Amino acid sequence: RDNFPEPVEKPQDKLLGGLLPAGLDEKSCLSRYQSVLYRKQQSGRPSSHLISRLRGYEALHKRCGPFTDSYNRTLEYLKSSSHGEDTNSTGCKYIVWIHPIQGLGNRILSLASAFLYALLTDRVLLVDPGGYIPDLFCEPFPGVSWLLPSDFPIAEKFNSFDKKSPESYGNLLKTNVLHNSTLYSLPPFIYLHLLHDYDKGDMLFFCDQDQAILKEVPWMILKSNNYFIPSLFLIPSFEQELNDLFPEKGAVFHYLGQYLFHPTNSVWGLMTRYYNTYLAKADEKIGIQIRVLETETGPFKYVLDQVLACVMKENLLPQVNEKEDLMVPYGRPNKTRAVLMTSLNSGYFEAIRDMYWEHPTITGEVIEVYQPSNEEYQHTENQMHNMKTWAEIYLLSLTDKLVTSAWSTFGYVAQSLGGLKPWILYMPENRTTPDPPCQHALSMEPCFHAPPTYDCKEKGGIDTSKLSPHVQHCEDRSWGLKLV
Ligand code: GDP
Repeated sequence: RDNFPEPVEKPQDKLLGGLLPAGLDEKSCLSRYQSVLYRKQQSGRPSSHLISRLRGYEALHKRCGPFTDSYNRTLEYLKSSSHGEDTNSTGCKYIVWIHPIQGLGNRILSLASAFLYALLTDRVLLVDPGGYIPDLFCEPFPGVSWLLPSDFPIAEKFNSFDKKSPESYGNLLKTNVLHNSTLYSLPPFIYLHLLHDYDKGDMLFFCDQDQAILKEVPWMILKSNNYFIPSLFLIPSFEQELNDLFPEKGAVFHYLGQYLFHPTNSVWGLMTRYYNTYLAKADEKIGIQIRVLETETGPFKYVLDQVLACVMKENLLPQVNEKEDLMVPYGRPNKTRAVLMTSLNSGYFEAIRDMYWEHPTITGEVIEVYQPSNEEYQHTENQMHNMKTWAEIYLLSLTDKLVTSAWSTFGYVAQSLGGLKPWILYMPENRTTPDPPCQHALSMEPCFHAPPTYDCKEKGGIDTSKLSPHVQHCEDRSWGLKLV
């Protein structure tokens, strides 16, 4: 007889459909192959083209990464004033990601953007550790580190790079002789300033003819606080490749994020202990991320009202009955919902928790309300603060339904990593609860807050959301761009 019984447990797809490389050490980075135990079964799969390009990237990284012979030889260019004629002698080109002053969400999104750009242009991504990267993230690539060595020749300049730096692409264009869209005497490195305050010169990065120039430069140093991937989709020479890599346009960060960002064992400990203690047993998990961009810490009533209006209107949580004290039928309730809240402030959490303690729900359900931390202020320089931030972003990504705050990159990372289309709380104006309070997002993709406004062909201003049906304005930011 050939009808064998079904296996009790389905084999776990710990490589996430081939997204992750096999064979890396499990103990030194438990999250990499354990994330599958916590995430829901995802409907989509990474494309076979993405998988093969990632394996190709890993081979390139091994050949060109820190301390390899090719790396050492390419470093030599930095010691001369020009890279000369023989750019291809090592076959290795680099993009060095350096950190902006903004918080972890911004950093994760710009780092993912830098990686996709590296993949598209056959560059090697190196990351300035900045004293915190190794505490938060495991090495993503097999064999050779992604961390920029501390003796990197121009590392002392990183902090001072800004839009005024003479080495920025925009400023080099202004000062160098430009002839037929070609820079004479290309420097050995270019600083790419893709921060929110960038101007037209730096925006030329998003034009095809400028990409043709940039291709020749061995070292690019990138500072960005943005998720600039949507605008890469609008560069004609990248279009076909991006379509092949991501047939599902709304899942770009979902795959890149799951590929790149694996919590270190310390962060994984924070994440899993919290999850297993408070969330694992609930029938449904609701995430609520509250980010208030006010100078005072709050809590603010208009924000609490907005959150409650959103979750009630969208049926994410049950209403309470304020007139009766006891509505639960005899016996133990059979369904529980856990609410995971994150905020710098504890006031919203306390109010919602107390509401469900003081009054019964009209459905008789039990609502458990939790918030891991309330740090009051952003402390990007503090190690434990950053580790908790990362653990909380990850916890939110494991919920079934998620409410996020407008403009928050912290929320964007959680939603995309988790494959969740969030309900986005609109940005309040004049400290008033917006009506409607929130909107269900069109896709799980992050919003590019500061897209270029320069038309490469017509050389004037442009609304780039008109160029592709897959690149639209964001729900929470009318001038932002997101993939759908
Ligand atoms: P954004 O400012 O909302 O776009 O998100 P960022 O992550 O870039 O910056 C906000 C920073 O403030 C985070 O990185 C944290 O350091 C801190 N922060 C904001 N909200 C929370 C929260 O709910 N929990 C924790 N632990 N930290 C938070």
